[in-house]
Amino acid sequence: MTEMVRAENVHKSFGSLEVLKGVDLTVSQGGVSCVLGPSGSGKSTFLRCINHLEEINAGRILVDGELVGYRERGGKLHELSERDVARQRQSIGMVFQRFNLFPHMTVLHNVMEAPCRVKRENRAEVRDRALGLLERVGLADKVGSYPGQLSGGQQQRVAIARALAMRPKVMLFDEPTSALDPELVGEVLEVMKGLARDGMTMIVVTHEIGFAREVADEVVFMDGGVVVEKGPPGEVIANPRQERTKAFLSKVL
Ligand code: ADP
Ligand code: MG
Repeated sequence: MTEMVRAENVHKSFGSLEVLKGVDLTVSQGGVSCVLGPSGSGKSTFLRCINHLEEINAGRILVDGELVGYRERGGKLHELSERDVARQRQSIGMVFQRFNLFPHMTVLHNVMEAPCRVKRENRAEVRDRALGLLERVGLADKVGSYPGQLSGGQQQRVAIARALAMRPKVMLFDEPTSALDPELVGEVLEVMKGLARDGMTMIVVTHEIGFAREVADEVVFMDGGVVVEKGPPGEVIANPRQERTKAFLSKVL
């Protein structure tokens, strides 16, 4: 199977604080990896390294076979041109806890903005694609609304459609339902399940254990900047081997 994301021995420090201490992870094309772990374990930092929001200090990351970041320990960073970085970032979609939609734009224009402005794609084509995506996330009737008129769950579904509008090779989700009222979590998870079914490659940081159990091909448990344990959900969630995984799951289940 084609590897879509490969991270090898990724290290990342902020000053003297080492946040990632050699993280390995691979996701094959169409695969879904769910990353679990306590707050502060480096989950967001890891996603940000994949998306060029942070520079790694050692290790390497490849997306679709192409180097995103590479550095020998203590050595020089593999330099990518600004153009390559921009191109790679366009192919990696990211959805955050906070949706950050443009408040002064309609739902439709939020979804059209990046392909039109960043990629300079044909406006009519982008519009058709955006309408299709909004239908896919269940918001066909909200295309003319403004973000402020939507619930948090609806706004997060717009944010997912907006990321998909760039036709990413992989989607990164950083606790996409953590800021939502409990009754709105399900509708966002349903959209994500649909994406997974349709073959999108996804890395999902989440505390939604039920989602991980149902959707993940691999569950990765991180703590203290390392991957403590990984494997199919039937092993890591149902039958964790490591004490730290057991302790964490007993708190969130
Ligand atoms: P998680 O997403 O698992 O909660 P994070 O990746 O957000 O963990 O953070 C891991 C650690 O890195 C935390 O101790 C956090 O305070 C620290 N950290 C994250 N980003 C920065 C930054 N830009 N500067 C300094 N420290 C940071
Ligand atoms: Mg985080």
